[in-house]
Amino acid sequence: MSDIFNEEILPPDFSLYLHMPTLTDPSMAPEGHEAFYVLSPVPHMGSGIDWTKQAKPYRDSIMQFLEKNYLPDLQANIVAEHYIDPLHFQDTLNSYLGSAFSVQPTLLQSAWFRPHNRSEDFDNLYFVGAGTHPGAGLPGVLASAKIVGGLVGEA
Ligand SMILES: Cc1cc2nc3c(=O)[nH]c(=O)nc-3n(C[C@H](O)[C@H](O)[C@H](O)COP(=O)(O)OP(=O)(O)OC[C@H]3O[C@@H](n4cnc5c(N)ncnc54)[C@H](O)[C@@H]3O)c2cc1C
Repeated sequence: MSDIFNEEILPPDFSLYLHMPTLTDPSMAPEGHEAFYVLSPVPHMGSGIDWTKQAKPYRDSIMQFLEKNYLPDLQANIVAEHYIDPLHFQDTLNSYLGSAFSVQPTLLQSAWFRPHNRSEDFDNLYFVGAGTHPGAGLPGVLASAKIVGGLVGEA
């Protein structure tokens, strides 16, 4: 966490979030294959990391870690592979600084302290989604939509 948020470097001892959806839903891949997803938290574009150069070596170190510890011969068995990095979040999804989870959820940027759902400057302007109250993640975003729906209904 310190490497990501304070040092703004790619952590050598990275965190990985692994998900294999075919274990519960085999329709996620053709028969005899698995779908496998790996997420690794990294600093946003403000770090100055050049993803055009760093993405491939970082991807390779993750693959090597997985092969060594959990999935021998993983790379030899990959049929299709796709990866995205903060450049994709910035340039394709239009996320500020390529931040995948929007505003950092520090205490003073969480819940009520996040941008409110009704604009304090303009009538009839509402905000919804991960960067607003109550916060990121699908439950938070759906709650945000529900709140905005209620506020618009009140107006
Ligand atoms: C890799 C990853 C894994 C995640 N895993 C989980 C999880 O397991 N569980 C969970 O609860 N949450 C998870 N999240 C968080 C969750 O996905 C997000 O908080 C949520 O999708 C945000 O929803 P949103 O509607 O605010 O924004 P988004 O889903 O980002 O939607 C915003 C949309 O607006 C579009 N857009 C941007 N600018 C414009 C413009 N000017 N005009 C038109 N369209 C525009 C973007 O392209 C995008 O399609 C994950 C996020 C990431 C990145």
